[in-house]
Amino acid sequence: MDQVHKLLERIDTYGDQMIEAQRELVAIPALGPTNQGEGEMKKALVFERWLKELGLTVLREDAPDERVPDGVRPNLWGVMPGSGGPKVWVLGHLDVVPEGDRSLWSSDPWELRVEGDLIYGRGVMDDHAALVSGFFAMKALKEEGMSPAGDVGLIAVADEETGSAYGLDHLLQKRPELFSPQDLILVPDVGEPDGSFIEVAEKSMLWLKVTVIGKQVHGSTPHKGVNALYTAARMMIAARELAQGFGATDPLFDPMVSTCEPTRKEAGVSNVNTVPGRDVFYIDCRILPGMDLDDVMSAFEQRFGAIAAEERAEVELEVVNRVQSPPATDPQSPVVRSLVRGIKQVRGLEPTVGGVGGGTVASFFRRKGLPVAVWYSCEQSVHQPDEFARVSSMIADAKVLALIYAGLA
Ligand SMILES: [Zn+2]
Repeated sequence: MDQVHKLLERIDTYGDQMIEAQRELVAIPALGPTNQGEGEMKKALVFERWLKELGLTVLREDAPDERVPDGVRPNLWGVMPGSGGPKVWVLGHLDVVPEGDRSLWSSDPWELRVEGDLIYGRGVMDDHAALVSGFFAMKALKEEGMSPAGDVGLIAVADEETGSAYGLDHLLQKRPELFSPQDLILVPDVGEPDGSFIEVAEKSMLWLKVTVIGKQVHGSTPHKGVNALYTAARMMIAARELAQGFGATDPLFDPMVSTCEPTRKEAGVSNVNTVPGRDVFYIDCRILPGMDLDDVMSAFEQRFGAIAAEERAEVELEVVNRVQSPPATDPQSPVVRSLVRGIKQVRGLEPTVGGVGGGTVASFFRRKGLPVAVWYSCEQSVHQPDEFARVSSMIADAKVLALIYAGLA
């Protein structure tokens, strides 16, 4: 039997061990202090023990945080030495989101439930599946007596769910020398259930609160007032029109264009026979990378200002959330190409390389000019009650990672 075959067959035997690994992780509710939790230390120590059992040297770059009992938020990594090829990094996160409404769960969110190929519990998918697949891929190499092509580092960070200031952002600030643009950096945290999607880009996000001030009058005499609701409606229509001008089309994304969508609406007058003098609504803008959000903002100010003037109303724009996305990872970069080859070998399918609407931790790498691919086999159960993952998908992902570690993808 050839080496590749033996490596993949070994990973096929890891199902039960993966379940036990998940059982250990699920039992530790690693919630950040923003979510009224004690942080990630207990889970970090379990992960550290696994890495040490594999014979790896474990390093840590903890972030001080007085809000948690240990006083720090752990960020750790173990490196398996390779033979001179490009370095591979796989980054997962230790923290999870709260259980939410407990009554919507079919079983205890903090106790693993196994049903055939499915495992249930908070964090099994987001992001234990990443840590478990990354770890068992290393274990397979070790047990096959193979050494990786280049050094392989498996990183577990804190604070992904609440902003990453104590997680990846901290790590990149304290230890920038760890990473180089030649490395293959993988973040298993977004994807499709069959592992067919590789994320290389994100749209920028701009969330706006729009307050329109008019003049309230009786419903029978609208000409005496200034209808804030009518003015707001004109602005909502204008928002979609404006979106068309924000950048050209980019086939990496679905949809291929920028979007500016009116979403939330605050309550206005409660009776039918009053013309409202105040209206508040929100717009969620997802803007193609390369378009400056300052320009988007001034386009809104200009257009909404003009509409308000025509209606004799006033308008206030407030930024609720603003994230300028970094440039995309080149779809032809080595990390994306090895991933495409690995997925084809293991899954027998041609993955799609594309962008998402915004908001993954990979943007911290991209901002530093480091190419990164976000990928794993991800069920749409993330952040939901009855969060679940598939053992067969963890096995498939571990195979893809093992081929990349070994330089065989
Ligand atoms: Zn996640």
